[in-house]
Amino acid sequence: MSDRPGKWFEPDLARSALHVTRREFLERTCACAGMATLVATGLPAAAGALGNGPWSDDEHEILGIREASWYEKLDEKRVECKLCPRGCVVDDFERGYCGVRENRGGTYYTLVYGRPCSLHVDPVEKKPLFHFLPGKQAFSIATAGCNIECLFCQNWQISQTRPEDLRSIELPPARLAREAERASAPIIAYTYSEPVVFSEYMRDCAIEGHKRGIRSVMISNGYIQPGALRDLCRVLDAVKIDLKAYQDGFYRDMCDGELEPVLKTLEILKEQGIWFEIVYLIIPTLNDKMEEIRRMSEWIRDSLGPHVPLHFSRFHPTYKMQNLPRTPVSTLENARSTAMEAGLQFVYLGNVVGHEGESTYCPSCGERVIHRIGYQIVENLVDGGACSCGELIPGVW
Ligand code: SF4
Repeated sequence: MSDRPGKWFEPDLARSALHVTRREFLERTCACAGMATLVATGLPAAAGALGNGPWSDDEHEILGIREASWYEKLDEKRVECKLCPRGCVVDDFERGYCGVRENRGGTYYTLVYGRPCSLHVDPVEKKPLFHFLPGKQAFSIATAGCNIECLFCQNWQISQTRPEDLRSIELPPARLAREAERASAPIIAYTYSEPVVFSEYMRDCAIEGHKRGIRSVMISNGYIQPGALRDLCRVLDAVKIDLKAYQDGFYRDMCDGELEPVLKTLEILKEQGIWFEIVYLIIPTLNDKMEEIRRMSEWIRDSLGPHVPLHFSRFHPTYKMQNLPRTPVSTLENARSTAMEAGLQFVYLGNVVGHEGESTYCPSCGERVIHRIGYQIVENLVDGGACSCGELIPGVW
């Protein structure tokens, strides 16, 4: 499955700020109000500095700039970000690797709080989450930024872009929850780019959503520090993690990241008792060896449990990886067989519409309990969380 932005959801703009990039806002504001210092410093945007002092109250309110959580103040006005394993140590007037967190005078700020650049209503199957409220709609949002760079990123236009270079709208958490309710979506999904980098916004949206009976799911690369993850688990209802390979070299060469923190994230999700599913995108020649898939499946079985759903997804050439072909369906089928032979009970195929690997089967009697075609639920026989034979089907139904 590909969780790419679809049709833009149009919020009630009478209550939301007009679409405007941060740079446009600053330019207009400076022209109108004489706040020349904001853009007249001559500092390049790439350096992260659009002004040369602490954020003004107006900027805080209008631009969604908030003091970050999960960081520590160091000497000489430096800060250390405690949000993801990168642990950026950031000098004054600089940003962290993800480009959406900035040090101003020794205080660390998130630049994307309440400023989504993508807003869509998708079936939860598109995330994909197959054992979490099947058939329900997910009000899906993203901001700019990511804390790794996958050469095969399908949403690179937003994940690898700075917030001032993207159009966004002002949508504070309480208003976002109202819009989700207006869209009849019982789920808010934080997705498309990397929600870890907008964790403050995600946390507060989840809290506002819960006030309206709306649940929250994080669609993530799992590259997050344990402390921040445990904090977020208190407000999230489900998580999908992209396990991009089962080899550290792949993470380093293809994603500018590391494998070990992602495995740690999965162990913490199990420890926290939150519902989670795993996606593994199979890329020809890079992570498609059955030996690697067998070892990963055995680790999932032994460390997380055989009931954890694993989705093998089909690769399509994109971003900086245009030179490889689409994954052969036979490779996906071999991977599914390998994972099931290792003992995993719920193994799915994604981006292969109409394949039997899209459906859910009872691990006891073999009955097809949820029949899917693409993102559509054709039939759902799960009753009270169980198959007709009485076998419990794990998930949130
Ligand atoms: S969240 Fe961003 S600023 Fe923080 S450590 Fe990760 S990449 Fe660096």
